Amino acid sequence: MPFLQVGVDDTDSKDGMCTTYIGALIVEESKRIGAEIIDYPRLIRLNPNWPHKTRGNCAIAITIKATDEKVLLVKKKIIELVKENAELEYETTNPGVVFYHSLKAPESLKRFSDSVIKDIVTIQDAEKLAAEIKAEVHKIKSGNGIIGALAAIGESLDTDKTFELVAYRLPKNRGTQRDIDKNSVIEMDEITHPKTFDNYDPVTGEICITPHTPCPILYGIRAENPAIAIDAHKIVRSAEPIERWIVYKTNQATDSHYQKLKIRDLKPYVSAIIEGKVSSKPRIIQGGHIIFKIKDKSGELYCATFEPTKQFRKIITKLIEGDHITVYGGVKEKSNLPLTLNLEKLEILKLSPLIEKHNPICNKCGKRAKSSGKNDGYICKSCKKKFSKDSFILKEKIRDLNIGFYEVPPRARRHLAKPLIRIFMKGSNMPKPFDEQLQPNSLN
Ligand code: ZN
Repeated sequence: MPFLQVGVDDTDSKDGMCTTYIGALIVEESKRIGAEIIDYPRLIRLNPNWPHKTRGNCAIAITIKATDEKVLLVKKKIIELVKENAELEYETTNPGVVFYHSLKAPESLKRFSDSVIKDIVTIQDAEKLAAEIKAEVHKIKSGNGIIGALAAIGESLDTDKTFELVAYRLPKNRGTQRDIDKNSVIEMDEITHPKTFDNYDPVTGEICITPHTPCPILYGIRAENPAIAIDAHKIVRSAEPIERWIVYKTNQATDSHYQKLKIRDLKPYVSAIIEGKVSSKPRIIQGGHIIFKIKDKSGELYCATFEPTKQFRKIITKLIEGDHITVYGGVKEKSNLPLTLNLEKLEILKLSPLIEKHNPICNKCGKRAKSSGKNDGYICKSCKKKFSKDSFILKEKIRDLNIGFYEVPPRARRHLAKPLIRIFMKGSNMPKPFDEQLQPNSLN
């Protein structure tokens, strides 16, 4: 029986809808027609720094197996579902649907997907590739969504992947306050973490499974496998009914947006991993944000971390010049400012010694001498003994910081950023993440 891969993107607006919801409808309708759904539907997050991204910047792909006759019915139904449910009255909502009649993505399509997740791609690039690989493209309005739709088909998640169970609200409840029992989320986290992650932020007490937008999602549970996501879902108590739910296989929490780059090679909108040394001490600017500079052999770069990253900022303020670090984050360009990397994650590789200069201690009375004026050396206030200006004492101060990984809290995390708990889950000395001190970890 023939296979059909379906990709959909750009159906939401800031005020509603979510492409994952249309994906759930497509799965249900395809089954009703008599088609078989192969594997889990895929939720593919795209470049989070792209200025024209959709709200959640996610596209979906579904693999279907059916007779030729049923494939035709399914395709017709999908176009109808997208047209009925997408927020078409919004100028920025321009859905795209792509059909591809093969189970295996060609190399050119895989490369395209990688570019859409890491970089900027045009609709012309998408149309050209679709023609080459004989993918069937349906543009609704300007059809910008075909970029993500095609990318979702090409991302088969063969390397790293996670899962998300998404539960949806009844139409009449959308846009109102979500009423989830917070204690049930904490209970769920206690039972299922770290096989589920980013459920809530223990520092702020904030629940992280519910979105803050008026979209149809009631909550989403992120997990290492589908079974644990479903177990977790059974523990969460909601005051409002769930209309439907679905489990997606996804590139969320896999770091797939990053490229390892030299500072010289950075450009706006990419997400980069850069190794270098702190070249200017972090300073707090207006709004509680923090900026500092790092340099590698190719150049120097501003790094920023913002107020909502809370406890992560405390770590950043402890960095000093010369610290050897690797930074992870999105590269932003703002008018009149040099390129800035918005920090998502940090690895401290080596700490620079922190040397402090102290006044000499008087050898007669044991008291610390005072400075006797600029360039004038020191004087003991009690016995008046003078000390030359180079008689100061250098002391190495213990750094209040450990080498290892640090990350922004769940509330400030990018969908694609891999939480440290996923990196260290298999280690024997698994760190408890997000604790007050954010102390790292087994790499020490
Ligand atoms: Zn003295």
